[in-house]
Amino acid sequence: MISEEEARKKILETVRSLPSRRLSISRALDCFAAEDYFARLPQPAFDNSAMDGYAVVANSCARGKRLRVTAEQPAGRDKQLRISPGEAIRIFTGAPMPQGADAIVMQEDVTRGGDEIVINTDVKGGEFIRRRACDLSEGQRILAKGERLRAATIALLASQGIDDVTVGGEVNAAILSTGDELVKPGEKLDPGQIYESNSALLRALLHRCGAAVNLVEHCRDERGSLSKAIKRGMKNHILIISGGVSVGEHDLVKDALRELGAEVDIWRVAIKPGKPFLFGRMQQSKPSPQSSGCCFIFGLPGNPVSAFVTFLQFVRPAILKMMGAINLDLPQLPARLAVDLTNQGDRAHYIRGKLEHGKFSPVGRQESHALFGLSQSNAFLRLGLGQSFRADEIVDVQIWD
Ligand code: AMP
Ligand code: MG
Repeated sequence: MISEEEARKKILETVRSLPSRRLSISRALDCFAAEDYFARLPQPAFDNSAMDGYAVVANSCARGKRLRVTAEQPAGRDKQLRISPGEAIRIFTGAPMPQGADAIVMQEDVTRGGDEIVINTDVKGGEFIRRRACDLSEGQRILAKGERLRAATIALLASQGIDDVTVGGEVNAAILSTGDELVKPGEKLDPGQIYESNSALLRALLHRCGAAVNLVEHCRDERGSLSKAIKRGMKNHILIISGGVSVGEHDLVKDALRELGAEVDIWRVAIKPGKPFLFGRMQQSKPSPQSSGCCFIFGLPGNPVSAFVTFLQFVRPAILKMMGAINLDLPQLPARLAVDLTNQGDRAHYIRGKLEHGKFSPVGRQESHALFGLSQSNAFLRLGLGQSFRADEIVDVQIWD
């Protein structure tokens, strides 16, 4: 059994980033930039009005002052207008500032009559003008390699006139659930059988990571069908096998993998839940597009909470690295702990709980089959070996929702 840190290090040393690809920004949400991006344009690109109103020369204005409206400047076409003291130019939001104007008076603050306005407010120089480059300068970095493209990032790229981006490759995944006792949801359950829920879990988790799920299969605890299913699954960049990695007679995955020529780099990790976790790799006879000719294999324990924990601690960072991400960690937040907690075991313990209003409380039964408690949780607290926390202490929790 190796430590959780060693397991994670080994996995992240082994997996490689996939080659980058070009994508339209409309398809790049949650992808990771494969290069740095810099502003081609300042933002705003020219001085413009922040309001519908009148461009004026501030020191020729005062409350009650009458100004002559000499022209109109709409948004979208710079009419290269000029203004002199005592004049006003009708202007609209986003329209370029006329030369000589140094303030905008909102239309709500004037009374218009024919070609004249009367100003009903005090006017300060610079008011309601959006200055060139006040938000962003030309050449400034707008997106760093390895950063995730979020909705606002995509809008920023679009505002720079950029319509496609170079991002990390897409990870193709196969899911293989194993177990004689498992029945597909929607089908009839016989005594002793349970519904198969890990495929649904893993599909959702993979989707959240931005991986493409290419194949989902179930197979019985039988060597021949397991080997065939593994062979089909390993055509993808990663194969996630649920169940069958423990030590019972029906846990056939490790031997089946070895028999097929896979290298098993990790089996059994000091993590609770999730001890039987397995990581290996296998050369592909026909390498999948963009892969290094290798399929990475993650064997997750069948208990749903173990599968969940090991996915987030080991599979997720590997996928993110393959996709070109820089930050591979789950987001962390400080929280006030609701209860005393101690880890007297020999494995790092991930307590599932709810982070709400800055407070973390363990939820439900802390056992690896207890899916309901997990479904009510949104965060982990990791208790290292021998670690204790007292109620009211501030701890860092990892959040997944
Ligand atoms: P295993 O890791 O195969 O020994 O399975 C451990 C426990 O998880 C057993 O109680 C299994 O019934 C359960 N289990 C295994 N696979 C699944 C699955 N795909 N969906 C729900 N429960 C599972
Ligand atoms: Mg099993």
